[in-house]
Parts: sequence; C-alpha cells; structure tokens
Amino acid sequence: MTSALDGAGLMDRLDQLAAISEQPGMLVRRFLTPEHARANALVREWMRDAGMSVRTDAIGNVIGRYEAATPGQPALLLGSHLDTVVDAGRYDGMLGVVTSIACVADLAQNGICLPFAIEVVGFADEEGTRFGATLLGSRALAGTFDRTVLDRADGDGITMAEALSRFGLDPAAIDAAARRPDELLGYVELHIEQGPVLEAEGLAVGCVTAISGATRLAVTVEGMAGHAGTVPMAGRRDALAAAAECVLLVERRAAAEPDLVGTVGRIEAGPGAVNVVPGSARFTVDLRAPADARRAAALADLIAGFEAIARHRGVTITAAKTHDAASAPCAPWLADQIRDAIEHEGHALRSLPSGAGHDGMAIAALTDIAMIFVRCQGGISHNPAEAISAADAEAGARVLARFIRDFQPRSPL
Ligand SMILES: [Zn+2]
Repeated sequence: MTSALDGAGLMDRLDQLAAISEQPGMLVRRFLTPEHARANALVREWMRDAGMSVRTDAIGNVIGRYEAATPGQPALLLGSHLDTVVDAGRYDGMLGVVTSIACVADLAQNGICLPFAIEVVGFADEEGTRFGATLLGSRALAGTFDRTVLDRADGDGITMAEALSRFGLDPAAIDAAARRPDELLGYVELHIEQGPVLEAEGLAVGCVTAISGATRLAVTVEGMAGHAGTVPMAGRRDALAAAAECVLLVERRAAAEPDLVGTVGRIEAGPGAVNVVPGSARFTVDLRAPADARRAAALADLIAGFEAIARHRGVTITAAKTHDAASAPCAPWLADQIRDAIEHEGHALRSLPSGAGHDGMAIAALTDIAMIFVRCQGGISHNPAEAISAADAEAGARVLARFIRDFQPRSPL
C-alpha cells in the first residue's frame, strides 16, 4: 500500500481542492459559498477514510477527530484554512489540512492509537476575502468571534448572518463553535512559508518562532505648494521630499535589525502636478516584528525620526495608527518538539518568524501554538504561480507525522 504521506498523493489531493472554485480559470473559494460546502464535503470524506469521526461546527469549520486509545482524552489540534484569496495559489492553507489528514491516515494504516486524540480542522475563513474580516473560523473556535461582523455584507449585499443561514448554519449559535482550553493540548499548523528564506538556504522545512505582530500607520505631511519654476530650492517646504526622507528612514530602521520589516506600500502627493511643488503628501507604513517590544521600539524611533524631518524641513507630519495586532509567539515547549522532529527527519534546523498572519494568531488565545513552514518556489504566494514540490510536501508531512508520534503533552495526561 502506498504511504498516506506519499508526496504524489498529497499533490493529487491539493489539485482536487484547487478544482473547486467559484470562477473558471482561477482559484477563488470564499467563506460560506457553495464551493466552500463542496470543499468541506471532500475534506470530510478524506477525514472519514483516515479513520476520523467528522463534524462541521457552527461557523462552518470542518473538524475530524481521531480518538485516543482511551476515548475522551484531550486533543492535539492540527489544521489550516480552506478558503482562498481571489486568484489564489493552491497550497496556502490547504497544504496544512491535507498533510494533517495524511498524518492521521498514516497512524490508522499502521494501527497506531495514541494516548491523546488528534483533531484536524479545516478553517472556514482565514483570508477574509468575502466580508473583509479575517480569521473568522479560528476566532469562532477560540471563542473570540466578534458578533458585530455578522451584519457585514459581501459585494452582493448578502450579510454574513444571511450567508450562514443559506449555508445551513444558525448565526445565533456561533458561540457553540468555541472550544474549552482543557479539551486541547496545543495547536500545530503546517503552512507554506510564503517567503523566500527556506528556498534561499536550500531547506525544505523550517520551524516558526512567532507570528509577527503588525502596526500600520497612515501618515500625512503638510508643507507649502508653490510654483515649480519660481520658488527657490532653499525656501521650499516640499511635502513629498519630506515624505521621501521618511520612506528611507522606514527602510533604514527596519533593516537595522533581523526579522523586523517595514514597508511603505502607498504614497501620493498633492496637488500632483508636474509644475507644482507638492504641498501635501500621504503615505502608509506597515511595520512587523516577531517581538512586540521590538516593534514598539522601532515605531517610537520612526515617530521621533518623522518629527525631526518635519522640523528640519518646515512641514508638519502626523501619523495615525490604523491597525495594531500583537505578535503570537510559538510556545517554546511545542516548537522544541517540532525542531526535534525536523532534525530526526534528517533536515538542517532553521527557525524563522512568520511575517504573514495565520489562524494560529486567533488560536493562541485558546491554547499554545506552533507552526511548521514548507519551502515554496520563489517565496511567491497569494498568486496562481504559488508552487511547491511533491518532495517538499512529503518532507513537511513526514516532519508533522514524526512530531505527532513523538508528541509529549506539556502536562501528563
Ligand atoms: Zn494561509
């Protein structure tokens, strides 16, 4: 019999999921759509075949449980998300679900029951593509679902509450999806890296240290507009030139320490004419770090630097925080066991933070989390060009399988 962890088999299942799309010619599978229901049905079938009992919870997460040797024991929770962005790749999220099911199938094939249960979850929404609110599946499971988002409408004017009803779920019952901490031993998610680090170092897998926290700013610079031909350089209060200095400051400050990243992704100048000195400028800042204290320190340096640039150039600069999310550190006791599994599978050890958000950010409110990263080609993600090799899918699955078999709960059962 072919091993459940066989790379070609994993890739075949990923292709089957990728074929379930709302639009022909591209992959898009949003929360509570008929395609979401079809993906859930396919995953339920795989879970049953792997020896799990299966249910769909109150938010539309599909959950399979592989019972412990003594029924009713707490569960090690595994999984990832089944929803996608628009024109998505086929591995972001799905790889974690498919490999987790394969690990359970591998246990079943070998007649192994563990002292703890394993639950695999396919989260209903992580990306937030349909309603503009992210991590809906994992928040509901963690008991931190914000009920005000039920009134949000999608692009067709259908509210989330209506969509839940059409999907066969009761919006009033979402609280029932919440799990108790004592039911779980921890959460481990396998995911593609979505970045270029593992590929650059020739590594198939890595251990995640933390999901980085993020701060976003909307920055406004006010200077003085003037005639491009008549206002001498010395007297100018050029808002865009001041903004340019700020952009370079963001780049310099972020580059000054490892794992801190800072990006100015949007900038505009007013009035925006070829022959007018810019009187105003607006730009965004996205700042991320695996440790909140380091992000806060970098943010303070940026604000102080912006103020110095403003004084020097005779402009005013105001920065408004538009987003602030704490980091989610991976629990050292769990990450240590993942590192052991990586080494036992014969891979060099590489630990790295996740700059992208994941379901673990929400699950961290419920139980300890850890993550395994799998190399992806060129670091490309959220793009149909997203690619991994069958060998790497299998390498990731084997690390996860090894981790599960050797898993020691933090406290004895
Ligand atoms: Zn993802």
